[in-house]
Amino acid sequence: MLIAIDGPSGSGKSSTSRGVAERLQLAYLDTGSMYRAATVAWLDDPDAPTDPGAIARFVRRLRLDVGTDPRRPTIAVDGRDVTAAIREPRTSEKVSVLATIPEVRRVLTGQMRRIIADHGRRMVVEGRDITTVVAPDADLRILLVADPAARIARRQAELSGVSVAEVVDQVVRRDRDDATVSQFEAPAPGVTLVDSTHDDLATVIGRICDLVPSA
Ligand code: C5P
Repeated sequence: MLIAIDGPSGSGKSSTSRGVAERLQLAYLDTGSMYRAATVAWLDDPDAPTDPGAIARFVRRLRLDVGTDPRRPTIAVDGRDVTAAIREPRTSEKVSVLATIPEVRRVLTGQMRRIIADHGRRMVVEGRDITTVVAPDADLRILLVADPAARIARRQAELSGVSVAEVVDQVVRRDRDDATVSQFEAPAPGVTLVDSTHDDLATVIGRICDLVPSA
């Protein structure tokens, strides 16, 4: 059972995907954490390249270790735990720089497909291009959306102490940049649209679990 969930920032994707994975006893892969971990390594390397081709080669050399327990997702890059660093505003600010380089996407997409195969496809995988590029053959494909005002309010609640301008940057600007390489604003053919604007987390998790095809 492979479940793919895409959506914009603040749509409730991570909490929902983790909840669905826990309920169905599946592993969980946060593909955004992989782009974020590569970004942390890049930001922290004093000799990090700036040219797109060199950035892609830099990312190809990184070793990402992703923990797939939905109750405690973790990520390490070259042996260093970056689970906290990937959530820092500096990472959110720069992650689209790497994520909009096609060769970086090819490298990380290959790693995602290997992780999915290693788990025997018993996974919930969330991101921006899972339903369309990484796993278009998933058993259930969901595009989770919410109105921009709801998404900004959710992010603001998560990121206490961060200015409104930063939250808007993280949601609106980042989605605009990300949308230049991934199609997550309208569902692709065969993808089910779920709108979380007016529902709480438990309701959305329940709605997605109800859509799971029976074995
Ligand atoms: O989901 P999250 O907001 O943590 O993703 C961080 C960033 O990783 C996104 O803004 C996007 O640039 C990139 N991303 C992507 N494709 C995915 C998952 C994330 O481009 N499948």
